[in-house]
Amino acid sequence: MTAEGSFGDSDALSRLRQLRQAIARRAADCGRDPASVRLIAVSKTFSADEVWPTIEEGDQRLFGENRVQEAQPKWRDLRTRANRLGKAIELHLIGPLQSNKAREAVEAFDVIQTIDREKIAAALAEAMAKAGKRPRLFVQVNTGAEPQKAGVAPRDADAFIALCREKYGLEIAGLMCIPPVDEQASPHFALLGMIAKRCGIAELSMGMSADWELAVQLGATYVRVGSAIFGSRA
Ligand SMILES: *Cc1c(COP(=O)(O)O)cnc(C)c1O
Repeated sequence: MTAEGSFGDSDALSRLRQLRQAIARRAADCGRDPASVRLIAVSKTFSADEVWPTIEEGDQRLFGENRVQEAQPKWRDLRTRANRLGKAIELHLIGPLQSNKAREAVEAFDVIQTIDREKIAAALAEAMAKAGKRPRLFVQVNTGAEPQKAGVAPRDADAFIALCREKYGLEIAGLMCIPPVDEQASPHFALLGMIAKRCGIAELSMGMSADWELAVQLGATYVRVGSAIFGSRA
């Protein structure tokens, strides 16, 4: 065990196990199949060695990172170690993407959740054709229409999704949102669900450490949880 107030490997592992059980319970309480809610462990800022026990002993497979450059070396290492144990990792990009990083993102990630403008859609389409690799793609919606925040505005979402599909041939598998920090999350989760439904999109990535229970209730198929597993970030 680690000192009080810090989060060592063993803490992350026990937190992960408890969280998985809590998510499954919550899903069942909402009348949902627990297997329909998948947990993305958000490992940004934590080192490969800090993350490893959740893979080796905890059997966690889905991870989220928000920076391409941080993820590349870290996950090259972790994937190699996981592959040796026959464990396939699924890595999600959950942070903003710049078009000049599209190529690297396509190579490093299995799912890219943050498409939010035409320039990115175009860059990803080109990078995927060149790499011969097709990560699953989600569109990020700025449900709170916050000026400083990434994501397509809710009123532009349907047209943007259609553009991704029709002009760039991108298959949009899901939607993602990050509600404003000081607002009730539920209207944002409900809005994301409505947009997904009318656009025929199955996956909803919503809910973090503070609000994943609400997200499960409102239909999340992926929750993205970092600090509740790995501890607070420096
Ligand atoms: C960091 C991050 C998370 C995880 O946040 P916690 O509050 O630590 O659970 C989830 N989603 C995104 C997009 C993030 O950047």
